[in-house]
Amino acid sequence: MAKIVGVTLSDRVVAGLVVDHKLPGSLVFFPEAQDDEYALVEMPSEAIVETMAEQVLAAAGKEREIAAIGIGVPGLVRNGVVEEAPNLPQLKGARMAEMLEARLRGEGIEAPVRIINDADGFAAGIAASIGKLDTVIRVWTLGIGIGYGRYPLTDGVWEGGHTVITLDEKENYCGCGGRGHMEGIMGHRAMRLRFLDMEPEEIFEAAKNGDTRCHDFKRLWHKALAGATATSIHLRGPGRFFLAGFNVRFVDMPMLKDYLQQMVKMSPLQSYSIEIIQDDQETRIIGAAVSAEQTAC
Ligand SMILES: [Zn+2]
Repeated sequence: MAKIVGVTLSDRVVAGLVVDHKLPGSLVFFPEAQDDEYALVEMPSEAIVETMAEQVLAAAGKEREIAAIGIGVPGLVRNGVVEEAPNLPQLKGARMAEMLEARLRGEGIEAPVRIINDADGFAAGIAASIGKLDTVIRVWTLGIGIGYGRYPLTDGVWEGGHTVITLDEKENYCGCGGRGHMEGIMGHRAMRLRFLDMEPEEIFEAAKNGDTRCHDFKRLWHKALAGATATSIHLRGPGRFFLAGFNVRFVDMPMLKDYLQQMVKMSPLQSYSIEIIQDDQETRIIGAAVSAEQTAC
């Protein structure tokens, strides 16, 4: 069985040895304490690569016959180069795959390093966890921003969270600065900018209690999710969609399905499903490994 190391890079570096789409051991973390969230932000890219190399070595243990290394990075990734990383801007343009391969070669690990978008890695992990590596999987992550991942891994850019879902000129809360974007309505950061006097959880609570402004926003939020999902269905066909991230707590499934039904009318496109799934480190690590395995072997 091929042994692969999966890695995710966000506010922490997490790594694990993956064998046959499972984790035989435990994950390793840097920094170990979860509250040290700025440890990576302040590092230059070379130091981040060094940290990743150390975590890969820790995950590999004594094993040197590693077939591939897959790294999930939040941002826009093409050909092993991070072209845009809003949370770790120092990685922009860094040739991380090459640097890490060279560093690991010095430790006796001759393995190709594949850098992938973390949301795509998560989609691959979901596919592996439900045993469906032969179907199309799409996932929306509803967090500070909105992530969009798809499996199988294909070349190209899938910035689904920036899908244009309204032509309203006042809709300009997206983190990227673009107008009318899904993230500008659904992202946690965007919601806080829109409702300066209320936290997102208070907005959805007030919507339940009949506050008109909040209820209107709740509908807009669900229309945005339905609209972006409908666009994805119209471009790539129906299939299984998953929702994850800390703001899935706001999802009103009947409302979402009702809007989606109004937006997707062609009958061959109606065989889609939407389900909420737990977002966990293990799935993301396995997904990064599965993606690396499929492109490297
Ligand atoms: Zn945007």
